[in-house]
Amino acid sequence: MSETKGLVVVVEDEKAISDMLRMYLSREGFGVHVEADGAAGLAAIRSLRPVAVILDVGLPTMDGTQVCRELRATGDWTPILFCTARDEEVDRILGLEMGGDDYITKPFSPREVVARIKSVMRRTSGLPEGSGKVSLNGIELDSETRRVTLNGEDVTLTATEFDLLAHLMSKPGRVFTRDELLSHVWGYSSVVGTRTVDVHVAQLRAKFGDANPIRTVRGVGYSVDKD
Ligand code: CA
Repeated sequence: MSETKGLVVVVEDEKAISDMLRMYLSREGFGVHVEADGAAGLAAIRSLRPVAVILDVGLPTMDGTQVCRELRATGDWTPILFCTARDEEVDRILGLEMGGDDYITKPFSPREVVARIKSVMRRTSGLPEGSGKVSLNGIELDSETRRVTLNGEDVTLTATEFDLLAHLMSKPGRVFTRDELLSHVWGYSSVVGTRTVDVHVAQLRAKFGDANPIRTVRGVGYSVDKD
């Protein structure tokens, strides 16, 4: 058996979907472990230490948002791709206290799921371009250690939040469109809209409070101001 790209844990109670994911992810060279309920999924993630998780929202015994919250509460930042049947759930599942990395809405194509998984993994493992330290208005961002401080105090960011902020801070004053951010940070172009970008910007703003560096440029996108 050839070496795999790592293990992906799929927590999904619809067998047709988990079978399809297992087939496509295996074909792409991933190992796949499937659980059909939330509590078993949480236990599997903790014991198997996968490279990424595909997490259904509606699950027996413990729903997907609860699984994610439990992991994040214990400092486990394994990349999580949520799958949801309803677009309205997006704000909740990517919400501040939750720490999901991305989402995909059912029905989805297996190819899209594979692309998203590769994207979240790339973001959590690789260093962004132009690694080094950037500091701006009291915020210091270190791409080597992936650490962010505000006036010397640590700010805990998800991998996605970090990459989004690093990308914006790499060119202060430059305005990035949502599509540019989606393509550079998430690594795919917009097929389903760009609410992912807006939700993550909102999370960053909430984490920085009054020191929020991200400005909305109406009708265009986002930027961070120069010092
Ligand atoms: Ca379900």
